[in-house]
Amino acid sequence: MNSYKYFENRDCKYYPCHDMPEGKGLNCLFCYCPLYGYDNCPGNKSYIEKDGKRIKVCKNCNFPHDEENYEKIIKILSAGNR
Ligand code: SF4
Repeated sequence: MNSYKYFENRDCKYYPCHDMPEGKGLNCLFCYCPLYGYDNCPGNKSYIEKDGKRIKVCKNCNFPHDEENYEKIIKILSAGNR
């Protein structure tokens, strides 16, 4: 159910942008993950090298889209440690 910490935008042209486990909804609240700038984010990240730059790749990560992770994300952002 939609709330301050969860909503699904099923009209988005990219929806569903990630596969979620059976029975889990896809939270669109953190569509652009606010933890992208955090090297130690808890998500399933990988890195590629391109033009001499190290680029974080999040295509296999569902962390910000899992409704159960809302408080964890807010806690990390509140701590401010990158
Ligand atoms: S999407 Fe996942 S891997 Fe990418 S920054 Fe967010 S938590 Fe980390």
